[in-house]
Amino acid sequence: MIDLHAHTNASDGTHSPEQLVREAQAAGLSALGVCDHDTFAGADEAVDHGAAAGLEIIRGIELSTRLPMPGSRHGKSVHILGYFLHGNTTDGFRSWLRRLQASRRERNERLAERLRRLSLRVTVEQAEALGGSITGRPHFARLLVSKGYAANQEEAFRLYLGESGKAYVDRWEPEPAEAVRQVLEAGGTPALAHPARLSTRNGDEEEGLLRDLAAAGLAAIEAYHSDHSPEDIRRYRRLAERHGWLVTGGSDFHGEAKPRIKLGCGRGDLSIPGEILHRLREFKRAPSR
Ligand code: AMP
Ligand code: FE
Ligand code: FE
Ligand code: ZN
Repeated sequence: MIDLHAHTNASDGTHSPEQLVREAQAAGLSALGVCDHDTFAGADEAVDHGAAAGLEIIRGIELSTRLPMPGSRHGKSVHILGYFLHGNTTDGFRSWLRRLQASRRERNERLAERLRRLSLRVTVEQAEALGGSITGRPHFARLLVSKGYAANQEEAFRLYLGESGKAYVDRWEPEPAEAVRQVLEAGGTPALAHPARLSTRNGDEEEGLLRDLAAAGLAAIEAYHSDHSPEDIRRYRRLAERHGWLVTGGSDFHGEAKPRIKLGCGRGDLSIPGEILHRLREFKRAPSR
């Protein structure tokens, strides 16, 4: 059993890299992909624990991007995975990542300010204390819940943090195609994360996005994911075939932050073929790159 998409507490998961490796071993995984949001801190640390435990760790990152959409104020959030990259990557990728992290920190300041104007007594330091290498809205959601301003994280997003919430603030995010190009330039393998979450309004819209990503050099699509039905998986596998993409898959494990999702098997019936990892590796080794 393999799982190529899990988070640590370096981003919005609750397991430390060491705990994650231990849980992956207990679950019987033979390979684990660690892909935190916008940071390599958790993946880099997990590699050492994996080596000690005899568990193969695939390092990666999940990049937050935003696609401008005609007629949509905030555009669409799109997550791009980058495999086979690590913290000590190229100067170009590192400085691009620093820009992403800086825009997030600056957004967090404005978000805290906006919450205070709504009479919620929160500070960015309090949110950061819940975060790891990066702090995001999920940490703000936990903070709001712990202070009794929301019954649960879902409500925190609905009332305050989500795109229609009262405290929502924009931040600079690269476009998905830009993230694909950055991952490729750094020598990584770019994949589109959980495509079912794109919730495009129609087939043309989805085709348009996929065409742009293909043109940018997308290598793979995450056909296997906890949010995907068997029909979704079949559909994304067909799409991959049509575009000549590889297929990736993972549970998107976040520990206690998403308690129903288990490593390797997602909500219970996720089953990710080990063969997709071999193919990813072959792609990485291909001499044309
Ligand atoms: P950020 O990157 O800090 O803007 O936070 C985005 C993250 O918040 C996403 O990756 C999701 O995990 C989470 N998120 C976004 N919308 C919701 C929602 N409505 N409910 C729960 N979590 C959400
Ligand atoms: Fe997350
Ligand atoms: Fe994601
Ligand atoms: Zn994820």
